[in-house]
Amino acid sequence: MSIDELEALLLVQDSDITLDQLRHRRAAMPERAELTARSADLRATEAERAEVGERHRVVLAEERRIDDEAQTVGERADEVNKRLYSGTISSPRELQAMQADIDMLHRRRSDLEDEELEVMEQRETLDSELATLDAQIASLQASVSELTATIAATEAEIDADVAREMAARATLAEPIADSLLRDYDRRRAQNRGAGAARLVGTTCQACHLTIPSTEAERVRRDAGSVVSYCDNCSAILVP
Ligand SMILES: [Zn+2]
Repeated sequence: MSIDELEALLLVQDSDITLDQLRHRRAAMPERAELTARSADLRATEAERAEVGERHRVVLAEERRIDDEAQTVGERADEVNKRLYSGTISSPRELQAMQADIDMLHRRRSDLEDEELEVMEQRETLDSELATLDAQIASLQASVSELTATIAATEAEIDADVAREMAARATLAEPIADSLLRDYDRRRAQNRGAGAARLVGTTCQACHLTIPSTEAERVRRDAGSVVSYCDNCSAILVP
């Protein structure tokens, strides 16, 4: 163990702090929360679109059914009308009955047309609801793809930074004995990020608490041969 290894530990720790920051930035990207929210909005809007689409389908089918029936009734009225004026029927009773039929068919068609108008209004309301929902869905889909692309690009950028930093860390860690590096890694994991700390005077720079001056002197004296730890935070002390 040498003082150089202890110095190298502090540089490795700087690199580890940078790596932690990069990983935190990757995980806490604000676009992630936004993507989750937009995706939920999209799913809800699509569900609403499906529900309104189903109502629209039913109303449109009803509109067509009424329209068909109105047409059929109209055609029947025309037929009876044609026969009425064909001159082939002379019985006044029969002619009167046919006229009554025609009147009944015209009333029926008029009722059907009123009904159709009402259903058409419902369908038109649903048309515009669907158009609004389609526009919302398109805009949400655009947001989702944009956010997904932004996240992917930022991830790639951060991953490249992480790879570079890890290579730098490996180089910095080269002069450090494996056992000391493992000791540092374990302490850093247990000590919320501080595996090693500079000892300035009698103050540990990790926890900012002081150790007795005789202890600080001993740490300085032994630095080349014995690894010393902060009594308070257990970081490896680097004089
Ligand atoms: Zn400490």
